Amino acid sequence: MELRKDPITRSWVLTGDGEPLQTGASSCIYCEGSDHLPQPIYSLPYQHRPGAIRVYPHRRPLYTIDGRAERRAEGIYDKMRTVGAHEVIVESPDHEARLSMADERDIAHLLRCWALRIDDLKRDMRFKYITVFKNQGAIAGQEIKHPHSELTASPFIPRRILYELRSSQEYFVRKERCVFCDIERQEEQQGSRVVDISGNFLALCPFASRVPYELWVIPRYHHSSFESDLLHRAENTELAGILRRCLARLEQLTDAYHMVLHTSPNTIARKEVPGYWATLDDDYHWHIEILPIAQTQTKSYSIKEVYYCPTSPESAAARLKDLPSSRELLPQRTLEFQSR
Ligand SMILES: [Zn+2]
Ligand SMILES: [Zn+2]
Ligand SMILES: [Zn+2]
Repeated sequence: MELRKDPITRSWVLTGDGEPLQTGASSCIYCEGSDHLPQPIYSLPYQHRPGAIRVYPHRRPLYTIDGRAERRAEGIYDKMRTVGAHEVIVESPDHEARLSMADERDIAHLLRCWALRIDDLKRDMRFKYITVFKNQGAIAGQEIKHPHSELTASPFIPRRILYELRSSQEYFVRKERCVFCDIERQEEQQGSRVVDISGNFLALCPFASRVPYELWVIPRYHHSSFESDLLHRAENTELAGILRRCLARLEQLTDAYHMVLHTSPNTIARKEVPGYWATLDDDYHWHIEILPIAQTQTKSYSIKEVYYCPTSPESAAARLKDLPSSRELLPQRTLEFQSR
């Protein structure tokens, strides 16, 4: 596999003739008692059981840890090696566990685990961006059945993050304010897209949601970096709580979602370019994006890059707010769209 850059959109694509998918072993290797696993890279307790949240290298990684990116040209084109990291973060010893039903102290341990791994990989100058994501449900591309999240460290900044970084930097240069802080304040005042609010965090359906019931969890204070923010706090049960409640509400509408952490890029990777991210700490603001996936697609996009969202974020927020968010297994309703 290699990374190729689209010279028009400047987005990087992982490409190559991958190995055929192997039909997995019948028993889950991430369940307790499996002898198919190496020593974890890192572990934390779950339900007071030591070492129950565990981090392993991905068995079929998108990025590999050895060597250098070796950026090179092929005529007008750019390409590089898939150097980076790809880790599996096992969230619980229980195969049937769900984040939406987990104890908030356990979710707080998991969040700390995400922060520790990102912080560790940010010491490597080869990696420009490190993030954590979770694909839940087969239609969301969940490969491993055992509850887990994944971490990737890549030698480039993913395109959507780059858009966010550039926009927030431009906004800051113009207004000397963080665009995310402004969004957060306005949403709180308007209230129509707010789903949940706690002391330090807000959950909202964004103004221009790309999919029905898109949700963001955003701190109500300014901070650019998830990992340094969390690692300087004594506990993170408040964030764990709002995240769990969001997932509990959402899972009553759909079983499948993508969840992705948007945090600051690795600044030491660009320290050779003076002033490259000069205002980053002031202009960027970490957040978590959750994109639910509907079972049925009502309409195909005629232009792929234009999003068609048949439920307004105001209706989505109102419905989500009305749904219970307790830790019990809640009845599932179908994610239907409002007709226009
Ligand atoms: Zn398992
Ligand atoms: Zn901010
Ligand atoms: Zn974002």
